[in-house]
Amino acid sequence: MNLPWTIWTIAWTALAVGTAVVLLFRPAPYGRHSRSDWGPTLPHRMGWIVMEVISPAALLGVLWWRFDPDLAALSGYQVGLVALWLGHYVYRAILYPFLMRWKEKRMPVVIMLSAVVFNLVNGGLNGAQIGAISPPSDISIPMWIGLFLFVAGLLINIQSDAILRSLRRPGETGYKIPEGGMYRWVTSPNYFGEMLEWIGFAMLAATPAAVAFAVWTAANLIPRALSHHAWYKDQFAEYPRHRKAVIPFML
Ligand code: NDP
Repeated sequence: MNLPWTIWTIAWTALAVGTAVVLLFRPAPYGRHSRSDWGPTLPHRMGWIVMEVISPAALLGVLWWRFDPDLAALSGYQVGLVALWLGHYVYRAILYPFLMRWKEKRMPVVIMLSAVVFNLVNGGLNGAQIGAISPPSDISIPMWIGLFLFVAGLLINIQSDAILRSLRRPGETGYKIPEGGMYRWVTSPNYFGEMLEWIGFAMLAATPAAVAFAVWTAANLIPRALSHHAWYKDQFAEYPRHRKAVIPFML
């Protein structure tokens, strides 16, 4: 990979660390942390689909534009990485928003726009760097571990999302204490699963862009999990005391 891409990726990763510090003190204003002072809003489902579809579109767009118009010259390894990225986003951008009961819910436009920029840069950088890597001669042990973490993380994420979804009956908007699955150990196993996925992907791809995305995911989700955890303890006197925020037995 050439130097400008590396410098851009390092700068982008440094921004993630700064963002995490801000988010520790001011949680992103959506869901239970919504505030009314964040300007105009739009239907949550529409905003969600727009902001999440950008990521696979940017990845595929950069691959197509920069490397190979018909994508036929990509190696099996590159195609595998693209397939994992697309697999995640078919769930996150298309299935998830239609599974959730979000009829009345709204999202600040500014949140959608910031997520669009986030997904555009991450999808674009990953597309550029996946397009530039040569296939490894062999699948190493770290790569097998990466694949395992990605798949395990995706399954944990999907299961945890499903448990949250089952907590509300149609029309309900309040919060209950989630039980079962990895909620036995942590408040936000959906975030834990998502972080495992992108750590696994970074081990598989071994590109600065994939590492940057794993760092960004943790930068977004660890502060949010800590805010959720503090919120549950504040709202529910009976909240399980042994439950950690996001990393079982640790954090
Ligand atoms: P949350 O856990 O905050 O909420 C998910 C959904 O479940 C929301 O509809 C929420 O309702 C509902 N919900 C949450 N807790 C309860 C409860 N106790 N009782 C009833 N309903 C509940 O997740 P996010 O919205 O922050 O994220 C959704 C997904 O997107 C996650 O899987 C996450 O991993 C992923 N994500 C990834 C990011 C990345 O950087 N890669 C960044 C952000 C999200 P309500 O909205 O009313 O609170």
